[in-house]
Amino acid sequence: MNHNQDPIIALATPQGVSAIAVVRLSGQGVIGIVNQLFWGSDLSQQASHTIHFGMIKKGDVTIDEVLVAIFIAPHSFTKEDAVEISCHGAPFIIAQLIELFVAQGVRIAEPGEFTKRAFLNGRFDLAQAEAVADLIAADSMLAHQTALRQMRGGFSLTLQALRKRLRHFAAMLALELDFGEEDIAFLDRKDLHRLADELITTLTELIDSFQLGNVIKQGVSVAIVGKPNVGKSTLLNALLQEERAIVSPIAGTTRDTIEGTLHLNGIRFRFVDTAGLRATASDTIEAIGIERTKTQCSKAFVVLYLIDLSDMTLTQAEDDLVTWELEGLPLLKIGNKMDLAPASALESFKDYLLIAAQTGNGIATLKDKLVQLVAQQPSDGLATIVINARHCDRLQKSKQALADVITGLAQKRSNELLVVDINRALYALGEITGEITTEEILGEIFSKFCIGK
Ligand code: GDP
Repeated sequence: MNHNQDPIIALATPQGVSAIAVVRLSGQGVIGIVNQLFWGSDLSQQASHTIHFGMIKKGDVTIDEVLVAIFIAPHSFTKEDAVEISCHGAPFIIAQLIELFVAQGVRIAEPGEFTKRAFLNGRFDLAQAEAVADLIAADSMLAHQTALRQMRGGFSLTLQALRKRLRHFAAMLALELDFGEEDIAFLDRKDLHRLADELITTLTELIDSFQLGNVIKQGVSVAIVGKPNVGKSTLLNALLQEERAIVSPIAGTTRDTIEGTLHLNGIRFRFVDTAGLRATASDTIEAIGIERTKTQCSKAFVVLYLIDLSDMTLTQAEDDLVTWELEGLPLLKIGNKMDLAPASALESFKDYLLIAAQTGNGIATLKDKLVQLVAQQPSDGLATIVINARHCDRLQKSKQALADVITGLAQKRSNELLVVDINRALYALGEITGEITTEEILGEIFSKFCIGK
């Protein structure tokens, strides 16, 4: 692929004051450009992957003492000549440095432009480039591991295998077309049907894995819901082991939602303590809170339905579920205040996980249960987990095209029409890895990166 290699520059480390900052340059002639302003060794004579101490000067004025790392094409991240300047992390120095190079004709990089160049120069495919962004944004062990696997090309290999099989079939169909008049069949239509079915199964697994992928990336959302005073805030605090929510014996204290994050077994859980649910709200603010609670519950990965064992019968608890329209949701039913509950209550709430949020009794079991719920996801065990919404969208398009192939076979459509649908399936998969790209797709992806990546 051909593209412009004009020299670009950006700060690669975060904005603000730091001990050290790294300014990154890439493109044709950057080593020479830095060399002109660098007082130390002659950079044009140095080997790739070497670091040099010296000074960057503007005329006679020293801007900073720096370390300069040089990378000679194609042995750099972008596969172009590249330089990384480690300077002191003062915004003033950084601004001066960048200005100095801009005056030499170097352009400020667009968001994601370094990664985009790496992709255009064939360092990795598009799915891997996107994984770079996910890797940088990863904030839990599982998110990190998943992004790392994708960056190393695990997902890309799965897709390549899928495309290869489809391409083979498209080729066979096309071959039949060439020999159309002689009526030679290279392809058993039953085989094509079987292949389409198989591919649809694989695509469905991948698409389903996105639910888990999204959970890994965004964190598992857990809504804590129940009547006022059943101990929702106390439970949130017990889970987070801090005084995040206001615990009070007055009903209706938590009017808005409160969030907290907890890492369990490398998975990030986002807990939301919701406004207490009642059949009738005492005022408008509470009514808004209740509406918000319902929305939170419908979006949650799992809803912790909390009841007060000392204050409620099983029938009441189950009736409330119906009143609040919660039955269809992924529920984990919990009976709280087991320390106050009569033995009969402990007996009757068989389906409930019994805890005492105040004493911490049962909290460890609850945490284990939550981890299990994520681990039980249907895609668990799949080598590949889809973590990107764009990828999920293209997988769905590909699956639809294959469903059309199957319909076409049933309706005995001509090879020409079947090939069109197979090509649609191929195209959608190619858009994920970047074998097929448009400026629009590249813009959509790289504009979300920050400058310097
Ligand atoms: P929320 O309105 O559902 O958020 O309820 P809170 O967390 O504010 O708790 C209401 C009251 O129940 C507070 O006085 C808590 O101390 C008390 N409480 C919560 N959990 C327990 C428990 O496990 N045992 C006992 N005895 N009291 C609890």
